[in-house]
Amino acid sequence: MSELWIDYANSLWHDWRGDGHAIDKLPQPEWQSAFLQKHRLTAPVPAPATELEEMARFRDLLREFAQRLYEGGSVTEPMMGAVNEQLQRSAVVRRAALHGEDVRLEWQPQENSWNAVLAEAAADFVKSLASGLGSRIRLCDNDNCKWVFLDDTRNRSKRYCEDKTCGNLMKVRRFRERKKAGDAE
Ligand SMILES: [Zn+2]
Repeated sequence: MSELWIDYANSLWHDWRGDGHAIDKLPQPEWQSAFLQKHRLTAPVPAPATELEEMARFRDLLREFAQRLYEGGSVTEPMMGAVNEQLQRSAVVRRAALHGEDVRLEWQPQENSWNAVLAEAAADFVKSLASGLGSRIRLCDNDNCKWVFLDDTRNRSKRYCEDKTCGNLMKVRRFRERKKAGDAE
């Protein structure tokens, strides 16, 4: 399962195959329902127009953080401040849960709201950093795509969100460019 915060950050979709123009999926009820269902969260759909601005602002901030970390930047106090601002928005209650034979400690948001969803996204981002995944955060090297992902390869060599899509596309483009350069000689 992909990380909650990464799915949230990728609600800004780019036309990776074409000119890279962005489509904001956050205001789309279909996107909202699918996201909530996937991550077992609840919030009103469609999200109230009054909350969309803050939802987009934090999404853009997460993308900015991802980019900074990808470019080798480190985690800063202001970054943590922005995350804490979201964490403080909604309360959670701890709960012991049994999954098969596994005991897990979970927390349950106490609000059925997008505030709680933003807090979950913020918490999940911190979880990634705390478990040492910060250096695995990537933005797809296809400049028209910019999909956020975690590089799960052993030698940390993953450059594209998907080999089958962007990886292939860029391979074809490089091939054509080489060919063009060859023809010109
Ligand atoms: Zn991509």
